[in-house]
Amino acid sequence: MSDRSIDQSRLVVISGPSGSGKTTVCNRLIEDPDIVMSVSATTRFPRPGEKDGVNYYFLSPDEFQRWIAQGRFLEHAEYNGDLYGTPRGQLEEKLDAGATVLLEIDVQGARQLRENCPNALYIFLDAPNRDEGVRRLTGRNTETPEQVRRRLEAARRELEQTDLFDHKVVNDDLDETVGRIRDLIREAERAGKST
Ligand code: 5GP
Repeated sequence: MSDRSIDQSRLVVISGPSGSGKTTVCNRLIEDPDIVMSVSATTRFPRPGEKDGVNYYFLSPDEFQRWIAQGRFLEHAEYNGDLYGTPRGQLEEKLDAGATVLLEIDVQGARQLRENCPNALYIFLDAPNRDEGVRRLTGRNTETPEQVRRRLEAARRELEQTDLFDHKVVNDDLDETVGRIRDLIREAERAGKST
């Protein structure tokens, strides 16, 4: 495994329950040319329109285990019966290119990452209320009722572990949320440069 250190002042971790609007918020943040997404690997099947290497690296369970054995993940976790992980190589390349990198990962992943990268910026995004989270999740129509039930259960567990984050942002108004997170990123980068 690479043992080089990571420039944590340009690493932004965004977690939050399914339905909190993480993907929409991240898509808005990456309209800034200096901000890019980390591309995770997963064993889940692609949803319609998702592309390998763009939305995720879609791996078989065997391939995923091989990547773990090769030390290619900065963190990895099981979510809803599938494996998800952050590959190191792509992250280092993006940081080397001077970008700020967003990681949209689950709370277990954020917890693991915090051990190696305590100085990254950790943001927990929450839906304004439970009903709104459920509406966004079921409105997506990409999951079966059983998958929705399991995601809501995972969301409940995630909401019990928000203490490890630097900031909790309630995604009430999308423009305000995006503006607030942009400000937090700028602050973290300024603080990183001055240390
Ligand atoms: P989805 O299947 O909806 O794309 O993602 C399910 C969950 O996995 C979300 O909470 C998402 O943030 C999380 N996730 C996506 N990529 C990663 C990753 O690389 N590591 C971890 N720990 N979680 C991830």
